[in-house]
Amino acid sequence: MTTRKPDTIMAHGGRDPNAHHGFVNVPVHRGSTILFPSVAAWRAAKQPGSDAYVYTRIGNPNSRAFEQTVAALEGGAGAIATCSGLAALSTALSALTSAGDHILVADTVYGPGRAYCEKVLMRMGVEVEFIAPDVGTAIASRVKPNTTLVYLEAPGSHSFEMIDLPAVTNAAKAAAADPGRLRVMVDNTWGTPLFFRTFEHGIDVSVHAGTKYMVGHSDVMLGVIVANAATEPEIRRFAHLQGVCASPDDLFLGLRGLRTMGVRLREQSQRGLAIAEWLAARPEVARVRHPALPSDPGHAIWKRDFTGAASLFAIELDGRYNLAATDRFIDSLQYFGLGASWGGFESLVYPGDDLPRAVAPPQPAGRMLRFHIGLEDLDDLKDDLNQALGQMHALSQGADAAE
Ligand SMILES: *Cc1c(COP(=O)(O)O)cnc(C)c1O
Repeated sequence: MTTRKPDTIMAHGGRDPNAHHGFVNVPVHRGSTILFPSVAAWRAAKQPGSDAYVYTRIGNPNSRAFEQTVAALEGGAGAIATCSGLAALSTALSALTSAGDHILVADTVYGPGRAYCEKVLMRMGVEVEFIAPDVGTAIASRVKPNTTLVYLEAPGSHSFEMIDLPAVTNAAKAAAADPGRLRVMVDNTWGTPLFFRTFEHGIDVSVHAGTKYMVGHSDVMLGVIVANAATEPEIRRFAHLQGVCASPDDLFLGLRGLRTMGVRLREQSQRGLAIAEWLAARPEVARVRHPALPSDPGHAIWKRDFTGAASLFAIELDGRYNLAATDRFIDSLQYFGLGASWGGFESLVYPGDDLPRAVAPPQPAGRMLRFHIGLEDLDDLKDDLNQALGQMHALSQGADAAE
């Protein structure tokens, strides 16, 4: 059973019908206290290596089922569930750094993850240095004797620049004074355990916003840290010290989401690409940022390292459309909700205004907007985009005429 394929892991992972009166799913074990029949049983449960549940914060059947399924899916040694994707990032970042360390962070990582480095880690005495997404093997010259962590994300949040993850990982480790002390962590929310095989590329830690495709229905916040055997115990110990955990109800829904993630993701991936291609052919659109498009600068790297693409990408509207016109475009969309997050069944649009960048600002031709493509009918989505682009164009024509 060691050769189970991802779809089988998603269907069978974490299930134990015999332990639950034959029920297919692990029921929600809502609770705090776990009772022991005797002092001897309590003492045995607290022995190192015991897999007994002792307290819900430390683990319960729902967290274990979810964690085991995600770890198996991605090929990590273990996984730690958290109450949000950001909590997964902050827990892993704090677990792996100490005062006096130097860390290298891709300029394109998720904004709040970056803010945690700048506002918390730096306050705790960690030196944070940002690197451009195209750093490649030149990362070697940025590694110092005290560099302990490289934190990457590909493609970049909102701006979708690819990073050569294997090249950066290998070069950073080769340049480290003690390769075992330098860990590489990737926010793999876009890649998902299905489309980017983190641990096959020498990466130590993979962090996911479970909130996105894993949950898949925009109704739960959840995060998960997956790590290799050398790193997982360290992060788990730290998570327990921090009191980081996720609620049993949310973990139940997270595991339910995973059951169908494969089909949702493959379907949304195709629809995302279809809409990206359609938008790329529009005169109102200057550029589409989607690494699965052959015209994208990151396409070769994406094609080599990824087996699929999330249904999340960005467009640059033509520079002739001002803020009022592009606001009109967003406001005219009927099926694309304006809101943060993504990975659910429904389409979304989100402005990429004022991205926090230190060394590699994206410099778009016009306003940059991020799209998430859901499971609506493709023709309906195209009709909606078409009418909203028309509204935008009409407003800008009217403005021209009034000048
Ligand atoms: C949404 C997101 C997160 C944070 O997840 P939350 O569950 O919203 O806290 C982290 N990384 C990436 C790439 C994300 O898109």
